[in-house]
Amino acid sequence: MKSIQTRIVLIITSIMIVVTLSLGLTATLRTNRILDEDSDRILNLTVDQSSREMDIMLGSVEQSVRTIYNYAEKRAETYRNFLSDETERRKLIYDISELGKSIAESTPGAITVYLRYDPEEFGPTEGFWYTINTNDGSWNSAEPTDLSLYPKDDIEHVGWYYIPIETGEPLWMNPYFNKNLGIDMISYIIPYYHDGHTVGVIGMDIDISILRNYTANIKLYESGRAYLVSPQGDIIFHFDYPEGVKSKDLTEDLMPFINGTINSPVDEVRTITGIDGVKTKVIKKRLRNGMILGLNATVDEINMPQNILARNLLLLSLLILVLAIGVCLAWIRTVIAPLKRMTQVAEHYAAGDYNENIDTNGSDEIGILSRSLQTMSTSLKKQIEIADTANRSKSIFLANMSHEIRTPINAILGFDEMILRESSEEEVKAYAANIKNSGKTLLALINEILDFSKIESGKLEIDPVEYDTALLINDMLDMIEFRAGEKDLKIFHDIDENIPSKLFGDDIRLREIFTNLLTNAVKYTNTGGVTLSIKVLSSDADKVRLHASVSDTGIGIKEEDKEHIWDSFQRLDSKHNRGIEGTGLGLAITHKYIELMGSTLKFDSEYGHGSNFYFDLDQPIIDPAPIGDFEKKRKGLHKSVEIYKEGFEAPDAHILLVDDVLLNLTVFKGLLKNTRINIDTATSGREAIGKMRAFKYDIVFLDHMMPEMDGIETMSHILEDKDIDIEGVPIIALTANAITGAQKMYIDNGFTDYLSKPVVPSKLEELLRKYLPDDKIKAKQISTP
Ligand code: ADP
Repeated sequence: MKSIQTRIVLIITSIMIVVTLSLGLTATLRTNRILDEDSDRILNLTVDQSSREMDIMLGSVEQSVRTIYNYAEKRAETYRNFLSDETERRKLIYDISELGKSIAESTPGAITVYLRYDPEEFGPTEGFWYTINTNDGSWNSAEPTDLSLYPKDDIEHVGWYYIPIETGEPLWMNPYFNKNLGIDMISYIIPYYHDGHTVGVIGMDIDISILRNYTANIKLYESGRAYLVSPQGDIIFHFDYPEGVKSKDLTEDLMPFINGTINSPVDEVRTITGIDGVKTKVIKKRLRNGMILGLNATVDEINMPQNILARNLLLLSLLILVLAIGVCLAWIRTVIAPLKRMTQVAEHYAAGDYNENIDTNGSDEIGILSRSLQTMSTSLKKQIEIADTANRSKSIFLANMSHEIRTPINAILGFDEMILRESSEEEVKAYAANIKNSGKTLLALINEILDFSKIESGKLEIDPVEYDTALLINDMLDMIEFRAGEKDLKIFHDIDENIPSKLFGDDIRLREIFTNLLTNAVKYTNTGGVTLSIKVLSSDADKVRLHASVSDTGIGIKEEDKEHIWDSFQRLDSKHNRGIEGTGLGLAITHKYIELMGSTLKFDSEYGHGSNFYFDLDQPIIDPAPIGDFEKKRKGLHKSVEIYKEGFEAPDAHILLVDDVLLNLTVFKGLLKNTRINIDTATSGREAIGKMRAFKYDIVFLDHMMPEMDGIETMSHILEDKDIDIEGVPIIALTANAITGAQKMYIDNGFTDYLSKPVVPSKLEELLRKYLPDDKIKAKQISTP
């Protein structure tokens, strides 16, 4: 998923690219057209200008010949004399020739000037023919061509005379090569008549190279070149053929050029493929002598400026695009930055941290959003506070309830224990045993609810200590065998003999985990058995990884119920489980404990066939010696328990018992009746302190929950009181506060140990054995309940 910023950038960039490209493209196309039209115009203008200049030059030749002609016309009255009078004729010819010569001298490019009379009237050579000496520029008379030597239709030799006579119009002759002078030339000739009689022709030849030079000097761009073609299609001048090419000599490779230029219409810009295959633009003009002046330029070169312009436009477009994107990014940032900040803050809120604040000053939508977010967090904070307060009240309520419920249970179980010990009537004992069982179940339920409330308030901690593996497993099996016996179920065990003897972990929680799983297995199994299996998966010097499983052949769990298995207060398959007691908390707590130990509780179950709950567990090793054959080990353990059950006496021992509830004092004393220990009691902290000042007890049992001054407070006074000698005096907390993790709290407050209420007699005796001075304990045969 792309971020909003990326998406906005993408959209704006795309729009900009499209707009810039279309603007750039339109501008380029438009400029291309303008430039194209411009280049046509330039081409046209250049050739137009040149053709005009060449026409002016040709016109001046025509004017020169016409001036001579006009002069001859004016002298036409002498024509009659001219016919008869040889002298007169000579004079006239001389006069005209003198004028012609001087006019030719001032006519650029003129190389001959001549007047020829009708050969039939005046003989084949009558007239004059002046030519220029190209070396010194002097004009000399030469022998006129003998017209009688050639037939009239010999255009090459005498066409210059007969064609104008026949057409009756002044005309420009085709270029021709004058062998005598070795020059390509071109003639302008005016036919001359008088009174309906043909007189002859007056003409002038000009050097064609003047036209060639002119054409050669026409340039456009780098490659733009002009060419000149005669009306007959002979190339007079071409850049590659400066001496021209006769139409009959045109070669195949010149054909594209010929077709594109010579054959194309005049006054029109055309695009053709040049001689060397290059795309070329061409324009043509017709000169007044009928010649064609053309101008070619390659399309590439003509397009060069527009290509440069297009490139510059493109670069400019890109520059604008980059700038625009930059500006847009900067702008987006100003919009996105507050959004990003809000996202961060929202993430903090989502993670439960409501202390982050946002700037809520903006008046735009973002400002409104920020304010809404801030308001939301404030009301959330409030709601959380309300919920926390409610939860705290719940925890306090639970703790109080526990105390309140446990105190009477303490008394019930205590008195029940005394009945069990002291009654000799079997029936009464059986009732008392039932009370004991139900009382224990009630306690277990309260403990579960308390543990759960602790999980909920996040106060649950793992409290690892050193523990004896075989002992723990044995206790679990003992406990469950007892319950299984009631239902005729078999308990199997498969305990790996390589399990280290002592491990480091929270044995209290481990006991709860196994108790829950084993109890459930028994609760939800009617026939067959339950197997506890503990295997070593791997181990090294410091740590062992165990795989524990509790499997049963019970009722199993329905597929649709499996997803709710860890839910708190959730009891599955209620129809079938109605008769089975439970809170629906056991697995939720167990699951959480295992999670706190860094592992996960898993299960497989088939409805109607049984279930298997299992987990892996890493435990640091304290004593790596393997437990060996567990069954053998178990027998030894049972023996030592039996010895323990034998009890003891300590008539020299003095203990102080502090509890505000008299009933508890009575139960406690009753439980220790057989030990003959001297028991002093106090019903408040103050009283206890007084007694401790007066006497140094062997052990002090100090209740936690007391009015006025509670156990913890009393403890701190005891520690500070200089009149009390507590050196070597164990002070044990008595607590109904059965929430797990209590032990650490008491030890941190200066207590030596703690004993949970209702007091379990065996636990009490164990503590006494542990803390009373050895010399005051005497073994005693007492009857066990
Ligand atoms: P409960 O106090 O009801 O036993 P748990 O949290 O221990 O609560 O178990 C939740 C539910 O899971 C039980 O109500 C029962 O339906 C089911 N369950 C737990 N263990 C087993 C088992 N070994 N076999 C069948 N169902 C079980």
